[in-house]
Amino acid sequence: MVHEMKGTADKTQVVILGGGFAGVEAARYLDRTAAKRADVDVTLVSRDNFTLFTPMLDEVAAGDLEVPHVCNPLRKLLRRVTILSGDVKSIDLASRQVKISYAISGLTRELPFDYLVLALGSETNYLGIPGVAEHALGIKTVGEAVMLRSGVIALLEVASVEPDPNRRRRLLTFVVAGGGFAGVETVGAINDLARESLRHYGKVDPREVRVVLIHPGAVILPELGEALGLYAQEKLRKRQVEIKLGTKVIAYADGAVQCSDGEKIPASTLVWAGGVSPSPILKATPFELLKGRVVVDSTLEVPRFPGVWAVGDCAAITDPTS
Ligand SMILES: Cc1cc2nc3c(=O)[nH]c(=O)nc-3n(C[C@H](O)[C@H](O)[C@H](O)COP(=O)(O)OP(=O)(O)OC[C@H]3O[C@@H](n4cnc5c(N)ncnc54)[C@H](O)[C@@H]3O)c2cc1C
Repeated sequence: MVHEMKGTADKTQVVILGGGFAGVEAARYLDRTAAKRADVDVTLVSRDNFTLFTPMLDEVAAGDLEVPHVCNPLRKLLRRVTILSGDVKSIDLASRQVKISYAISGLTRELPFDYLVLALGSETNYLGIPGVAEHALGIKTVGEAVMLRSGVIALLEVASVEPDPNRRRRLLTFVVAGGGFAGVETVGAINDLARESLRHYGKVDPREVRVVLIHPGAVILPELGEALGLYAQEKLRKRQVEIKLGTKVIAYADGAVQCSDGEKIPASTLVWAGGVSPSPILKATPFELLKGRVVVDSTLEVPRFPGVWAVGDCAAITDPTS
């Protein structure tokens, strides 16, 4: 059933889309300022009613942190800002409305805005590589981190009773694609979890556990520069992580990761940390996009669209001094 609802137009409506770092920071600022005014409503719309501390997702995957340690309820963080937990479907700039839908009820809502902050972040981009979207696990949501942790433990359980050595090695091989922050942190997490858990699985031979990081560049962590990337590589190798550099995943089929250098790695687990792309919602807007991100000026406002700003991973700052 689909209901239509209208917001009240008697107050100035400020709407923030996305409850990640960028959207929450904007909301926290407005919570202390504009939202105190009787003539202003500030609303934050996000899929989840919590904000996620993504840089610590790997620690959830490793079992070092629990879910509540990385999820912060939006309603606890924000006192005056209204929270709407829903999916943004479209943005209509002509009528200055955002269409939102609620997954469980099917309810849709047109939310009017006078001022709009776009903070929709990015989504996992599987780059159309055969089998990857279907069979690999992303590492962007808390659900994925929990699935990874339980998956590693479940595979150790199965491997401990699997008599066939080839099948056992496949179960005990964990491949992570992508040598940026997310991939490097995740491969470290899986490695620690799998190897440290082995003491509970006396029948599993530690030499059969294989953890592989595949990275297309010459050095991992390109964001940090070569010296730190080389340092991280050395640390990972000392902890028995194999690193394949200058290599891409080209397919994941029949339980094997196919690499651009010709190697096929039989592996029950492939974690895809090989790319993200900005929210697809933006493609349907008239904003100028750069690699899918909204081009903004030095104040983060979208040129030609007064009262609309873009922040965080969905924004492209081409000239910070302009
Ligand atoms: C595992 C991992 C580790 C990382 N480690 C680091 C690190 O160490 N250092 C670093 O600088 N960066 C790191 N990053 C990157 C960092 O997390 C991002 O740069 C940051 O989260 C961007 O913040 P954002 O608010 O722009 O977007 P996001 O955090 O992606 O937030 C976007 C928000 O919008 C919501 N949303 C999206 N689409 C919709 C929709 N259609 N409807 C409703 N809501 C929607 C999402 O649910 C989310 O709440 C890491 C990322 C990952 C995944």
